[in-house]
Amino acid sequence: MTNTLIIGAGITGAALAWNLTQRGEAVTIVSTHAEGGLASASSFGWLNASFYLSHSHYHLRHQGMAAHHRLCEALPGLPTTWQGCLWYEASGAEQEAVATDLAALGYKLDRLTKAQIAARMPALGPVPDSALFFPEEGVADPATLARALIKASGAKVIRATVEAVTHTDDKATGVLTDAGPLTADRVILATGTGTPALLEPFGQSLPMLKRPGLMIATNPLPPICPVILAAPEQEVRQDAEGRLHAPASAGHQGDHAEVLGAFPVVVNATLQRLRALFPGQDIHFAHQAMAMRPVPQDGLPVVGQGPIPGLWLAVMHSGATLGPVVAEFLVDEIIGGAPSPLLEGFRPGRF
Ligand SMILES: Cc1cc2nc3c(=O)[nH]c(=O)nc-3n(C[C@H](O)[C@H](O)[C@H](O)COP(=O)(O)OP(=O)(O)OC[C@H]3O[C@@H](n4cnc5c(N)ncnc54)[C@H](O)[C@@H]3O)c2cc1C
Repeated sequence: MTNTLIIGAGITGAALAWNLTQRGEAVTIVSTHAEGGLASASSFGWLNASFYLSHSHYHLRHQGMAAHHRLCEALPGLPTTWQGCLWYEASGAEQEAVATDLAALGYKLDRLTKAQIAARMPALGPVPDSALFFPEEGVADPATLARALIKASGAKVIRATVEAVTHTDDKATGVLTDAGPLTADRVILATGTGTPALLEPFGQSLPMLKRPGLMIATNPLPPICPVILAAPEQEVRQDAEGRLHAPASAGHQGDHAEVLGAFPVVVNATLQRLRALFPGQDIHFAHQAMAMRPVPQDGLPVVGQGPIPGLWLAVMHSGATLGPVVAEFLVDEIIGGAPSPLLEGFRPGRF
């Protein structure tokens, strides 16, 4: 039996572990952070293909949503929800251009009028003239999902930090951790922002953007937000307990800020925007989660064989959406199947 070391216990490492063990492979996960990962534990968790940087990125994201449905069937009881998204981050001709492109790609959408939006969202204060509704979109909690996948995989988890990938002249042989060496037939880096440091000794560059992300959660509220709401000033969703979850930056999937402002200022500004969206609601701060988002320099996933045989990479932003499908495709490829054409354009060698 081939022994695989997966470095990283976020959604990507967990989905890789689950797919490999489903195929009868032996897996050990090594991670600094507990099961649930790092960025995965601070995510908005919006599953969508309406945000995309290229048409091939769209197709991979759309398959990502399908992969989540497969996980929901395989692991009943996951808290993944499919409430759809009401989107008006752009308006007028720009909104219509988004609708036209997505419709041409085959994405399901409805164009809603002001009256239809008001009927669907009675608690919304300022109602836009028009919006798009994406009925296929949903929300996963990547940390909960990662824990469920690791448990279902039966993979052994070692809490340690990997300092280096060990190798012979032509093959990865394991890792050196702060708790000692571990040997394996193959190593997969699902290490998010920790990946460039592990590739550096091989002379392989993986430039990443500096993208801090802050999520804010409120007190439980009555049901006021039945959809994922993507307004120009604020994205927000409501969970089963009634809490609103809101990224501190507007348009958080593609925002360019390299630093967060002073914490109380940023939190207060986000709360003000939520209160403006839902006037009359008693909205308060409950807790926050912060992480650097693992965003490769061009914003696209980095998936495939690394600098030497036996060393593989899976690093990505939008990993809540993409982690499960990337894991399916990469595991197929690793254990000898044909590389998925959907991964073309996302290979490590492009940098
Ligand atoms: C605020 C915020 C909002 C987001 N919103 C969305 C969204 O709405 N939709 C979406 O699709 N995506 C979203 N994302 C992105 C998504 O959450 C991430 O892309 C995804 O969680 C990445 O998962 P991962 O498993 O690859 O990495 P992580 O969850 O970061 O896990 C990395 C793992 O590697 C381990 N590790 C790293 N280096 C080492 C080392 N040297 N030794 C041992 N272990 C190591 C860490 O301990 C951790 O377990 C958001 C992210 C943030 C922060």
